[in-house]
Amino acid sequence: MSFPATLNDPAHIVEMDRAHVWHHLTQHKAFETAEPPVFVEGRGLRLWDIHGRELLDATSGGVWTVNVGYGRRSIADAVHAQLLALNYYAGSAGSVPGSVFATRLLEKMPGMSRVYYGNSGSEANEKVFKMVRQIAAQHHGGRKWKILYRERDYHGTSLGALSACGQPQRCADYGPFVPGFVEIPHCLEYRAQFHDAADYGQACADAIEAIILREGPDTIGALCLEPITAGGGVITPPPGYWERIQDLCRRYEILLHIDEVVCGLGRTGTWFGYQNYGIRPDFVTMAKGVASGYAAIACTVTTEAIFDQFKRAAPDDMDYFRDISTFGGCLAGPAAALENMRIIEDEGLLNNTLLMGARLHANLLGLMGRHASIGEVRGKGLFWGIELVADRTTRAPLDETIVQRVVAECRKAGVLIGMTNRSLPSFNNTLCLSPALVATAEDIDRIGESIDRALTACLG
Ligand code: PMP
Repeated sequence: MSFPATLNDPAHIVEMDRAHVWHHLTQHKAFETAEPPVFVEGRGLRLWDIHGRELLDATSGGVWTVNVGYGRRSIADAVHAQLLALNYYAGSAGSVPGSVFATRLLEKMPGMSRVYYGNSGSEANEKVFKMVRQIAAQHHGGRKWKILYRERDYHGTSLGALSACGQPQRCADYGPFVPGFVEIPHCLEYRAQFHDAADYGQACADAIEAIILREGPDTIGALCLEPITAGGGVITPPPGYWERIQDLCRRYEILLHIDEVVCGLGRTGTWFGYQNYGIRPDFVTMAKGVASGYAAIACTVTTEAIFDQFKRAAPDDMDYFRDISTFGGCLAGPAAALENMRIIEDEGLLNNTLLMGARLHANLLGLMGRHASIGEVRGKGLFWGIELVADRTTRAPLDETIVQRVVAECRKAGVLIGMTNRSLPSFNNTLCLSPALVATAEDIDRIGESIDRALTACLG
């Protein structure tokens, strides 16, 4: 590997980083003794750090983003060509890549019909919250403005999105929050809250219904959910869950907002996570995998019925969506997204995700047989969580420092894996695996082996 000239002095780069950069989601105290990782090159699932060390990335860029893998020349070329033709225009103007990508995207999303561009997952979700409030203001006499969100789900970093945050570690200390967001219980049966439930999906739905009735159905505009909760523990829904959610939304006229920021664009082996469960959403938001991190782009997608409510002639002409995203007009985004989608299609990556996902799942179940510290394995496609416990019978969560050591051991062996957000007990004990959708059988087996060895090293 050849470093660009500016990288010839790795120690200097690391020093500049240490001295001047404030990293995301990082307790910087650690960098007083340890060196922050600095990655300089990537190909497929492989990353090279500034010292030339090769690593296998089982996280797709740390946070489930680089779906098509690193080093995609064709995406760089598409972005390059678009930037030379036209880099940007915002507001009411259309664009070539924006209109073509919206059309292609909607072909994968039957029932949906409009795409609103932005540049982050948080922003895409904020757009929905604003649309719901505007619909309430203009069509429900100011009622139906509240939004239900779920314990353990995450929808972004801005204060509106944090008001819909089901992870205490992410939102503690940042209040007061935006009013009108109401929490419903998580649906992780392994950490059951409804202990005697014979049908856990029904028990969850009953609890949600009780909250809807407590708040008043005529006050609730939307329900916002991740199809599979990501950072809150890789939580797949119990059987029948989504049918009941859909039914509640229909009965109480609540709009259904599915946050596909993690699951979108193939992560679970279907284009979107919700398509695994036969859900018919009113809003779908997406960001990370839309352009696999080659450009910043997010989409808020909705139905014609929703869109229609923003273009009826109102007496004061205030019924259009009075919102803008400056960088939603940056055309690198849709240009990268179009090529990203072409790659997923032409390389058969949905199918590869299913095949390699099944291999990874089988691999993890094998590990479960050998390591009593694995309490549960959950996931779909190439999106898995391994919940670690101190005791399988009591399900007491494994201490966070040991989970961190497991992650560190994998890294020592050259494999990057993730773990859930630090928060309350039983939030911080799940290893997260989300390799790029181009993963090979060899990659999958190596990921499994490194976890196997790390668990043995840390727990015997
Ligand atoms: N929704 C989900 C489910 C996410 O996981 C994230 C980011 N981890 C977001 C929204 C926020 O996206 P962003 O960081 O791009 O604002």
